[in-house]
Amino acid sequence: MRPLIDKLRQERTLPLHELRALLRGIRDDDTLDYLTRQARQVATTRFGNAIYIRGLIEVSSYCHNNCLYCGIRKDNMRAERYRLSKEQILACCREGHTLGFRTFVLQGGEDPAQTDSWVEDTVRAIREEFPENAITLSLGEKSRESYQRFFQAGANRYLLRHETRDPDHYASLHPQEMSLKRRLRCLDDLKAIGYQTGTGFMVGSRGQTIAHLVQDILYIKELRPEMIGIGPFLPHRDTPLALCPAGTIEQTLALIAIFRLMRPDALIPSTTALATLDPDGRERGILAGANVVMPNLSPADDRRKYELYDRKAALGAESAEGLDTLRTRLRAIGYDISFEKGDYNELPT
Ligand code: SAH
Repeated sequence: MRPLIDKLRQERTLPLHELRALLRGIRDDDTLDYLTRQARQVATTRFGNAIYIRGLIEVSSYCHNNCLYCGIRKDNMRAERYRLSKEQILACCREGHTLGFRTFVLQGGEDPAQTDSWVEDTVRAIREEFPENAITLSLGEKSRESYQRFFQAGANRYLLRHETRDPDHYASLHPQEMSLKRRLRCLDDLKAIGYQTGTGFMVGSRGQTIAHLVQDILYIKELRPEMIGIGPFLPHRDTPLALCPAGTIEQTLALIAIFRLMRPDALIPSTTALATLDPDGRERGILAGANVVMPNLSPADDRRKYELYDRKAALGAESAEGLDTLRTRLRAIGYDISFEKGDYNELPT
């Protein structure tokens, strides 16, 4: 496998059959170790020991969608629902700003009560009060016009995972009303408008095969998103996928590393799901080439209600108040928090 990994690092891509062979080959520890070490070197060459932080504000647990994997899906009658007001969100931003955050990420279910005008108004208020900050949205599928309005109001970045590039696999994870085609159109719109755009997928979602992962990799290569979000699937007890096994840490780390080798400049978070799967998941993600963490800045009372999967981590180093803990843990592996805004910035090759 080593020659394949060296080639991926060198050429930033591999032919299809070699990608497939690599994904099959990471089952052994030595290969995974070599792969993550290469990715780590690429990341530190590019970013030094800096890890960017983003303050995550979960703005609503209401959702009109019914994604089979997600704990806040519409049909989950046991989910506790809340939505934040503009004032509550601004209060989170103020707290985050004081702590040193220069990026706010507003993520939520697709909540019809948070209308496009409300989003626009909220983004504008944040932009006025924090002219220097980056504003990232992760509010699901909207029309191109809506994305355009949010952008004009001051949003700079948008996260929308494609979840899987295979139409049948997509259909097996989502209700009939949702379509991969629309999701991909949203991503094209976001890019065309000028957002720094993030996409990605869950590792180990039900029915995911190596062939699917190869399609995901090729799609991301083609789209060239500025941000790539990769986390393990984790079951939620009150969803149709409650009994499905979680994604593995090894496969998640391998994919983070592959994307780092393919896209040295990309912003790649070590996700909350990875930190939930394994107590050292956050650190292991960074050591596989991730360079972003997104501590939780939501109001403490509401955090447990934004439960996408069982036992979602939101305390300690996953929380904005836990920044000192995070710093200590990062320093222990030779990294440090960066308080820079951390925009995507492509260096000449
Ligand atoms: N409504 C927004 C935000 C969704 S939550 C949107 O549609 O983009 C953000 C991400 O969490 C999703 O894209 C999905 O990949 C991930 N997620 C949802 N349920 C999950 C689960 N059970 N395990 C792991 N990740 C999950």
